[in-house]
Amino acid sequence: MVRAMDTTVWTPGQAGPAQTFDTLNPATSEVIATFPAMPESEVDATVERARFAATWWAGLDWKERQTRLLAWKSHITRYLGRLAELVHTETGKPLADAQIEIILAIVHIDWAARNARKVLRPRRVRSGLIAINQAATVEYQPLGVIGVIGPWNYPVFTPMGSIAYALAAGNAVVFKPSELTPAVGGWLVSSFADVVPEQPVLQLVTGGAETGQALAGSEVDKIAFTGSAGTAKKVMAACAENLTPMVAECGGKDAFLVSADADLDAAADAAAWGALSNAGQTCVGVERVYVVEGVYHTFLEKLSERVSAARPGDDREASYGPMTLPGQIEVVERHIADALARGGRPVVGGLSSIRRPYVDPIVLADVPEQSRAITEETFGPTLTVTRVPDMEEGLRLANGGRYGLGGTVFAGNKKLAMEAARALRSGMTAINSVVAFTAVPALPFGGSGDSGFGRIHGADGLREFARTKAITRQRMRPLMNLTTLARKDKDMRRTLSLVTFVHGKRYR
Ligand code: NAD
Repeated sequence: MVRAMDTTVWTPGQAGPAQTFDTLNPATSEVIATFPAMPESEVDATVERARFAATWWAGLDWKERQTRLLAWKSHITRYLGRLAELVHTETGKPLADAQIEIILAIVHIDWAARNARKVLRPRRVRSGLIAINQAATVEYQPLGVIGVIGPWNYPVFTPMGSIAYALAAGNAVVFKPSELTPAVGGWLVSSFADVVPEQPVLQLVTGGAETGQALAGSEVDKIAFTGSAGTAKKVMAACAENLTPMVAECGGKDAFLVSADADLDAAADAAAWGALSNAGQTCVGVERVYVVEGVYHTFLEKLSERVSAARPGDDREASYGPMTLPGQIEVVERHIADALARGGRPVVGGLSSIRRPYVDPIVLADVPEQSRAITEETFGPTLTVTRVPDMEEGLRLANGGRYGLGGTVFAGNKKLAMEAARALRSGMTAINSVVAFTAVPALPFGGSGDSGFGRIHGADGLREFARTKAITRQRMRPLMNLTTLARKDKDMRRTLSLVTFVHGKRYR
């Protein structure tokens, strides 16, 4: 068993928390570590410490922050094996999957560190004819302290999409990992303290919903939340008390479209991996497949072959691990039962595939669009496959739900594929591969509807954690001064003539 103090920055000298909670290995139910369930007072004290650290961190120049972030990246890379073991133990996912998630996080820290200056530094903009005497500058200043509330499914990659970008933009961060993965969260925070020992720029608070509520209701300058849409609403309500802004990265019900000219082997391979990896507990995982009629049977056959060969387990050869959140198994069960009761056809597995804590792969066909397995996030190793007459109908059905996170298009024709990708109502679409956008740090990540709002990753992700600041500097006296109580009629006449000359032309 790992002691909480080994992985957190909570020191024995501090007042002890009244309550603790255990984090378990989902495959064995073995206790991994015990953590404090931090009350509001402790969250507030952490945010106050962060306020001082934020001033110090923001006072460093771009290069100094970049050097420290790159040192952190290098530290994580060198200890990747150790961190991956911890992710494997706490989430149950295979070691290689844990390694992939850490590699993606490393790529994002690198990008955020190297691009923060270029994206956020002051830049001159044109001042326009009316304000020609002004020099105009726009810049992006740190917000101060960012509260990051994370989920358990990708405990390194997902919160890092906010943490790395918030830090690179010059903010301090208070991080509340999921109560299912506090040891991973603690590891990240203490590894940062190893390379940036001067100030607590990145701190940890541990606990469940109450600790999250306390962070959302604290004096932080922004909340970066990742989790379910239901929880996002509660976080938003807590943020509303102080008008604290938030970015919400919520769930998805991502669609996967297969056109008649698609490479069906590649499509089946991608759909199988996209649905089953991480036991389907992926916000941008494949949940619904829409296949054009002419290739439906061949695709379903190829998909079933691949999916049937997959097996969950805790051993090195397992395709994926156990369900990390035991309660999610009931959701999967409800969705499958509902789909079957409405006339859905089991192609691979069915209700008997549920063997707690594991769920064997499940593929259902002919599932009515009103079924929960189509309208709600299942978050399990399951997928529905639906035949459609053409891509237009596939797109119509794909765009039918409340979510709008990611999506996939498989098509041979480049133009058709791009058009379909644009028409998918989602924040990100991958063409001829799955979730490829997560590995491109310059691309923004986020959704709409029940999938949330705001963006992490890329330049948009850096700006999400900055206060946009506009500055004008008068560089010469105005030709016509309109902002004086001593304004002359002649100045107004000249201004009106100028505006009519510049903007009054007729357009056809
Ligand atoms: P969740 O909503 O149950 O919890 C997320 C976080 O919120 C946890 O840290 C939890 O302790 C905290 N929390 C719970 N109740 C709270 C409250 N009332 N106030 C403040 N904080 C509270 O989600 P989860 O089960 O941890 O994660 C799974 C969900 O996350 C899925 O819906 C998945 O799709 C989504 N997700 C989205 C993305 C994305 O980037 N869009 C990435 C990963 C996961």
